[in-house]
Amino acid sequence: MKIRAAVLEEMGRPTPYAESRPLTLDTVELAPPGAGEILVRIAAAGLCHSDLSVINGERPRPTPMVLGHEAAGIVEELGEDVTGLKPGDHVVLVFVPSCGQCLPCSEGRPALCEPGAAANTTGMLLSGARRLSRGNQEMHHHMGVSAFAEYAVVSARSAVKIDRDVPLEIAALFGCAVLTGVGAVVNTAGLRPGMTTAVVGLGGVGLSSVLGAQAAGAARVIGVDLSDTKLAKARELGATDTFNAGAADCAEAVREATRGGVDCAFEFAGSATAMELAYRITRRGGVTTTAGLPPPSASFAIPHVNLVAEERTVKGSYIGTAVPRRDLPRYMALYARGRLPVEKLLTHRITLDEINEGFDRLNEGKAIRQIVAF
Ligand code: ZN
Ligand code: ZN
Repeated sequence: MKIRAAVLEEMGRPTPYAESRPLTLDTVELAPPGAGEILVRIAAAGLCHSDLSVINGERPRPTPMVLGHEAAGIVEELGEDVTGLKPGDHVVLVFVPSCGQCLPCSEGRPALCEPGAAANTTGMLLSGARRLSRGNQEMHHHMGVSAFAEYAVVSARSAVKIDRDVPLEIAALFGCAVLTGVGAVVNTAGLRPGMTTAVVGLGGVGLSSVLGAQAAGAARVIGVDLSDTKLAKARELGATDTFNAGAADCAEAVREATRGGVDCAFEFAGSATAMELAYRITRRGGVTTTAGLPPPSASFAIPHVNLVAEERTVKGSYIGTAVPRRDLPRYMALYARGRLPVEKLLTHRITLDEINEGFDRLNEGKAIRQIVAF
């Protein structure tokens, strides 16, 4: 079938994207779903920083590629051998398909699925197929999802069925921002009620974790960012205190306000500087978790001795250490009870034609979550 899609032709075009137009609106061919795959009509797709990192070349991927990895939609058609889904089902798409067979999958860590990661890196579906093309040119899938398009063919293992009563525009945000931000708090760091927490980097994922920390019973949720606008947004979402990361004494100020640092600090900015700050504001015995995606060359240094003498823990968190089939229904139940007000993250609704302008807005820090509504 012919579909309209936003195609990344090449990485690294200059900003503003409204002028350089790295994403071309084009008609492309989508092949029918193969065995184990489904055709999904995309209802809503979010603009996320990891899309931006592909556009600007920080996270190299093969091109041409149809971007978009945070989405929700409606199942239209099943390929062979698909069980547990039927046409008309509402689904959230998950950007690492899990094979269910490899060692991480067997350990209950599907976010680390090895064939899933390999397929994502090469721009293929889990089956090894590519279902997108343009003329005789094969095109690449983005993280098994490619949701900046009217329809997507995805592995059935990239989709989680959800209740119909969650608006699909909100459901889309659960696929990346919520799964990653809330999961970092409850799964990776293991926050317990009454603990103190700080979130460094207040984009869509960071603000999701501000919401998640409150839902999980944190006594104190501190927001840290370079942007005063984002700090204000964090307070609006329930952060108890905020600190500007640009202040020279930011780490000391947080440590003083918390009598030596927080139990759980999180880094969502994707920068080594932010990671160092998150580490410095973690208390003795505390856990520093990073879920921001820095450029592959970035590294950060910590004093080896205080890992030992202060029993520090540093953890990485990918998709919030999620088990999507377990976690999405839980987070959605919290949303339904008003305890995870994800709708507050949604700042803009745009059309597919406005997507380059949308990425300018994200790049300039003028949006939290923008949704392409189809
Ligand atoms: Zn994302
Ligand atoms: Zn696997």
